[in-house]
Amino acid sequence: MRHFALGLVVAAVLGVTNVATAQQAITIRAGTLIDGKGGVQRNAVVVVDGKRIGRIGAGESDHVTYDFARLTVLPGLIDTHVHVGGHFGKDGRASTPGETPAEEALYAAENAYTILMAGFTTVQSVGAPIDVPLREAIARGRLPGPRLLTSVYQLIDTRLTLDEVRQFVRKAVADGADVIKIFASKSIREGGGQTLSDDQVLAACSEAKALGKRVWVHAHAPSAVRAAVFGGCTTVAHGSQISDAEADLMAEHGVFFEPQTGLLLQNYLENKARFLGIGNYNEAGFKFMEDGIALNDAMFKMAIRHKGLKINMGTDAVAGAHGQNAREIIYRVQKGGQPAMDAIVGATSLNAEALGLQSEIGSLAPGMAADLIAVDGDPLTDITALQRIVFVMKGGQVYRNTAAAK
Ligand SMILES: [Zn+2]
Repeated sequence: MRHFALGLVVAAVLGVTNVATAQQAITIRAGTLIDGKGGVQRNAVVVVDGKRIGRIGAGESDHVTYDFARLTVLPGLIDTHVHVGGHFGKDGRASTPGETPAEEALYAAENAYTILMAGFTTVQSVGAPIDVPLREAIARGRLPGPRLLTSVYQLIDTRLTLDEVRQFVRKAVADGADVIKIFASKSIREGGGQTLSDDQVLAACSEAKALGKRVWVHAHAPSAVRAAVFGGCTTVAHGSQISDAEADLMAEHGVFFEPQTGLLLQNYLENKARFLGIGNYNEAGFKFMEDGIALNDAMFKMAIRHKGLKINMGTDAVAGAHGQNAREIIYRVQKGGQPAMDAIVGATSLNAEALGLQSEIGSLAPGMAADLIAVDGDPLTDITALQRIVFVMKGGQVYRNTAAAK
C-alpha cells in the first residue's frame, strides 16, 4: 500500500518518478479492464515491463503494485484535435497582446500537464509552431504532458497556387509536422462554406501522402467534405453540415470522421466574454455557434447510423477547454446516443488508428506502450466515470495516483 501514499502530482513536483526499477515489473490489478478494442475483462492483472505492457492475465490473489480491484482500467485516452497552446492571457481574454514567448510557452506547458492529468496520454495539436519545442520537451521525459503530435501550421490561404500549396506541405514537414492541417471551409462562425478549391485540397493531400504524412481537413460544407474525401485526406474534422451522402462517402473511402458535439461550442458559449470582440468572435459568430449545437446533435445522430463510418474522437479544445476533453465522449453517449463502448473505442484504438499509431498506443495488449488510466466507476454503465481519473501512466511512468484517497 506504500505506493498509494505517493499521492497526487508527484511527477510535477519532483520530476518524473517511477516506483519500479528496470528489473522489477509493475503489476496492476484491474477490477474491470476495457482493452480499447471492444473487449472487457474482470479481475485482470496487467504486467508492465519498462515502457511497455508485458502481459495481461487473470488476476489471482497475487500481490500487485497497484490494486485497482474497485476501479476500471483503460488505455490512456487520445484526443486527435486540440490547440495545445490556446489559453486565456493575463487579462483573462483569449487574445494575448504583449505576451512574451516565455509566457506563451509556459501556458502551453500548463495545458499539456492539465490534459495528461485528465487521462489523455496522447493528443494531436493542429497546430502551431510552439507545439514543436513542447513536443520535444515532453519527449525528453521530465515535463509531464501527453504524447504530442502537431501540424505546426494550418493551411488557410486560398490564394496559394497549387505549387505554393505543395511548398506549404513540404515546409510543414521540414519544420517537424506529424500531420498536415488544412482548411477546406470557413469557420462555423462565418457559415462554414468551402474555401480551398478541390484542386488545392487535392494538391495538399497528394503532397502530404507522398511524404508519408496524414492530412486533417477542417470542413463544414458538404462540398468541402467531398473535396477532402476525393483529395485523399485522412480525416474530416467538424462536418457540421453533412448529410447521409457525405457520411456514406467517408465510410466508403475509409476516411475518419471527427465531429465535435460536446465541448467545442459549449466552451465558447461558457466563455463568451473572453472571446467576444476578437476576430470573428462577434455576435453573428456566436449566433452561428449557438445554432451549431443542435445542428451537430442531429448530424451526430445521423452519422452513428452509418455503421461503416470511422467516427473518431477529437474535441478541438481551445482556451478554456483543456482538461475537459472527456466531455466530448460523455456527450456523444448521453446526448448523441452512441453506445459507451463505441465512444470509448473512438477515443482509444480508433483514434490510434487515425494517428497511424495503432501498433503503439490505444489498446491494452502485450507489446503496446504502457499508457493506461484507472477511473472510479465503470464507464460502460456510467460514462461520466471518465471524468473521475485516479491513475495515469504513460510509457510505464506513473504521473498521477490518487487511488489511496478513494
Ligand atoms: Zn481546431
